[in-house]
Amino acid sequence: MAELKDLYQSADWKKEKHVPVIAVISQAKKGEFISLTVSVGKEIPHPNTTAHHIRWIEAYFLPAGEKFPYELGRFEFNAHGESTQGADTSTVFTHPEAAIKFKTDKSGVILASSSCNIHGLWQNSQEVNVA
Ligand code: FE
Repeated sequence: MAELKDLYQSADWKKEKHVPVIAVISQAKKGEFISLTVSVGKEIPHPNTTAHHIRWIEAYFLPAGEKFPYELGRFEFNAHGESTQGADTSTVFTHPEAAIKFKTDKSGVILASSSCNIHGLWQNSQEVNVA
């Protein structure tokens, strides 16, 4: 049986343009909002054309020692140059970056996944210490 977990690719985001980049402070305070930015292509820009683009990024928080992650947000990027005139004609493009805030009293790990319309699924993670 094919399993989704086997389809998520991973790499160093500084060398592989598809990997979602997680920007978050490593040391947070209990009860205070934590700013989180997820993006694709921070170091090496990913193409953003009608034929080739990033569709979405999801972000989860998994508290240390817990079994299930909490979904923080799912961000869709839906404009990639298409229009009634055809591909790459609108000049309207959504950049694959989203910023949110969340809070927690628990330390854990941020997990992010992203989807390129022709290069599949990618993932990354980043620890957050909360005290
Ligand atoms: Fe791609």
